[in-house]
Amino acid sequence: MRQFAIIGLGRFGSSIASTLYSLGYDVLAIDKNEERVEDISDRVTHAVQADATDEAAIRTLGLRNFDVAVVTIGNDIQASIMVTMLCKELGIPKVLAKAQGDLHAKVLLKVGADRVVFPERDMGVRVAHNLVSSSIVDFIELSDDYSLVELSVWPEWVDKNLQELEMRVKYGINVLAIRHGSSINVSPRSDDVIREGDVLVAIGSNQNIKRLEAHNQ
Ligand code: ADP
Repeated sequence: MRQFAIIGLGRFGSSIASTLYSLGYDVLAIDKNEERVEDISDRVTHAVQADATDEAAIRTLGLRNFDVAVVTIGNDIQASIMVTMLCKELGIPKVLAKAQGDLHAKVLLKVGADRVVFPERDMGVRVAHNLVSSSIVDFIELSDDYSLVELSVWPEWVDKNLQELEMRVKYGINVLAIRHGSSINVSPRSDDVIREGDVLVAIGSNQNIKRLEAHNQ
């Protein structure tokens, strides 16, 4: 049974805490703001008011016995760095921290964060892609260079097979799966035919995906 400590109960932190709890995990939620602690108290295992930069206070909470700590302190960058460092010093195996920007992320990794997330930036990227393109149903950035996208089928693709479409040559993407209604073909063959209303799951460089989006406008 994994135990999670969520430190900083803004919108992002509270949503992680209550989701993990609803999935059946043991969740300790910490914030220095009493109101935020009260708000979440019946949606987590324990909710505690404490300043997480206070080493003695977090030692008392037994944080070192947790498997995962998620540091979701947002605007107070100094506190987020200190708390991330403290969590690693206590020996928590996995510490995930939320960053405001690249420099903040770099420092978090330097002080020992195992993973850094950028919820605002990531959501911004997804929303922007959805806004400019009617065909990119969803968008997941895999690295700085590559992304996974769901593409709805263009009219000129309908009733052609993958070999005829030459997606890799023409658009620089690899088709990983084809969704047809509620069924999904996860190992498409070159003679599989695309139908109207299908959704393709494809991987490609961000540059190629941008080109696909531009074509669609
Ligand atoms: P979001 O953008 O996810 O809403 P916020 O920056 O608004 O994030 O929320 C961060 C939370 O972290 C706030 O509730 C704040 O009280 C809490 N916080 C900030 N510093 C500390 C600290 N030293 N110890 C505990 N909680 C903190």
